[in-house]
Amino acid sequence: MVGKPSEREEEYFARMEFEKKKKSEEEKQKKMAEEEKKKLRDLHYMKCPKCGMELIEIDYKGIKVDKCSECEGVWLDAGELAAISKFEKTSLDELFSVFKK
Ligand SMILES: [Zn+2]
Repeated sequence: MVGKPSEREEEYFARMEFEKKKKSEEEKQKKMAEEEKKKLRDLHYMKCPKCGMELIEIDYKGIKVDKCSECEGVWLDAGELAAISKFEKTSLDELFSVFKK
């Protein structure tokens, strides 16, 4: 899939922004002690990154989708976004309907 030039440019700048932020995070993490990392992991595990409430995990076609019980945000583990993007539209509709209120 080849995007229009403006789309490629947006992709480029988004990637640059990500790399920049990732680098500064990596620097921060390097200075962090293992114990501190573990504390953070324990504190945040299965909690919404936006509002801090509990995430609810649903297994759909082998993909574990975590949805916030409070703000409705959806969280995907590494590789799952790519897997979901390969779904047929009907599978996507099914997945969305799982979360319908
Ligand atoms: Zn939330």
